[in-house]
Amino acid sequence: MYCKISDKFKEECGVFGIYGTEEASVLTTLGLHSLQHRGQEGAGIVSFDGKTFHSVRKQGLVGDNFNNKNILSQLPGKTAIGHVRYSTTGESKPENLQPLFANLAIGGFACAHNGNLTNTYSTKKYLVESGSIFQTSSDTEIILQLVARSQKKKIIDKLIDALHQIKGAYSLVILTNKKLIGVKDPFGIRPLVLGDKNGSPVLASETCALDMIGAKYIRDIENGEIIVITENGIESIKPFKKIAERPCIFERIYFASPDSIIGNKTVYTYRKALGEQLAIENNIVADVVVPIPDSGVSAAIGFSQKSKIPFELGIIRSHYVGRTFIEPSQNIRQFGVKLKHSVNRSCIKNKKVILIDDSIVRGTTASKIVKMVYEAGAKEVHLGISCPPILHPDFYGIDTPSYNQLIASKSNLKEITKMVGAKSLFFLSLAGTYKAMGCKRRNSKRPQFTDHCFTGEYPIDVTEILKLNR
Ligand code: AMP
Repeated sequence: MYCKISDKFKEECGVFGIYGTEEASVLTTLGLHSLQHRGQEGAGIVSFDGKTFHSVRKQGLVGDNFNNKNILSQLPGKTAIGHVRYSTTGESKPENLQPLFANLAIGGFACAHNGNLTNTYSTKKYLVESGSIFQTSSDTEIILQLVARSQKKKIIDKLIDALHQIKGAYSLVILTNKKLIGVKDPFGIRPLVLGDKNGSPVLASETCALDMIGAKYIRDIENGEIIVITENGIESIKPFKKIAERPCIFERIYFASPDSIIGNKTVYTYRKALGEQLAIENNIVADVVVPIPDSGVSAAIGFSQKSKIPFELGIIRSHYVGRTFIEPSQNIRQFGVKLKHSVNRSCIKNKKVILIDDSIVRGTTASKIVKMVYEAGAKEVHLGISCPPILHPDFYGIDTPSYNQLIASKSNLKEITKMVGAKSLFFLSLAGTYKAMGCKRRNSKRPQFTDHCFTGEYPIDVTEILKLNR
């Protein structure tokens, strides 16, 4: 009998892979460390030594678990892939850590996935009912099962067969006994780049991982592209009908590291431009601009420079706790905000303060910080958000919660302002957000980005997930 499958498959992740170098697992550890912002709950590495695959997957931070000779000696070989992961409630189990590995009839197959499949429920149901046994509740295992069951002869054909059966967002890094493979979904929703470390090809979610290991950036993997790296070189395969790419705009707003390069510019540049745009759209009289660190810093610099209101570090962030959402339950999450931020009274007392953050999701961070700033003696606290209100859940690999937890989805501007306790609250417009990205939003169902969290226009059908979330 088919059992109900958990519908909570949302994950935030980073992936990395390197081919043909002596220190593959050390370099993978370093690469994953630089992608740690994409997921802090657990990490894993699979290496291949020419005969055998080796796997270590641990809950916790990369630096705490892999920066250790004993662990690295368990990961020999010249080729390795790795993954950092954060999952939502109920899914933080060790067996869900990636890369996932399967011994297929034609050899070992390890897969690391950033993204989220949208036809998980129906595909898994079909697979289970026709005999597949699942070891995890991760949607990534569906890809392994589909590859294993494919009747095609060659591994790449099996993979293409599997990809044609899945829907959703995926940037994959795959390791077999002869190949390192990178895949981006047809819309190119999550990032994936190709680099080169002294002749060894590298795949990574973001360019910051290339910088970390001293690798050269070669290019982005294209939407719908499969990159196959073997000892004979690099081959590009495009098995899907070509469509315009729709990368997730939220990578630039919040998720990616400020030093990563996307579309020839650092993510910092986009975020600063978002802050400038916010200042252009909102003329507020105040004494200081204070970022909610770290995520609000770049936009606050832009806002301060454009508005000519001095920038001050009025909130100090502890670097010994993870991102706010790292703790899956609301109780701990609230406590986490207090642990994470404290007020620097000297630049707040008796001042009219503009606080800047990149986004509001549930409203937890904003409420806590506005309260802290008033308690520290601010005369007025205004809150500026460098993106539009998040009205819709993500479903493509970023953990934004369901409709009933998204504060902007439940309440209007006046109500949110009251809830967070600010004198005024202002968001950046959608047009301003695109302007900061250097373009004007194509006024069609196919804008340059997927901006579904603001507009509800999902490029990949999410009916199945929405039904499950009801
Ligand atoms: P909240 O406190 O629930 O309103 O969340 C907003 C805060 O979390 C902001 O400071 C954002 O920088 C950050 N944030 C936004 N989106 C995410 C996400 N998907 N995962 C983790 N943190 C996020």
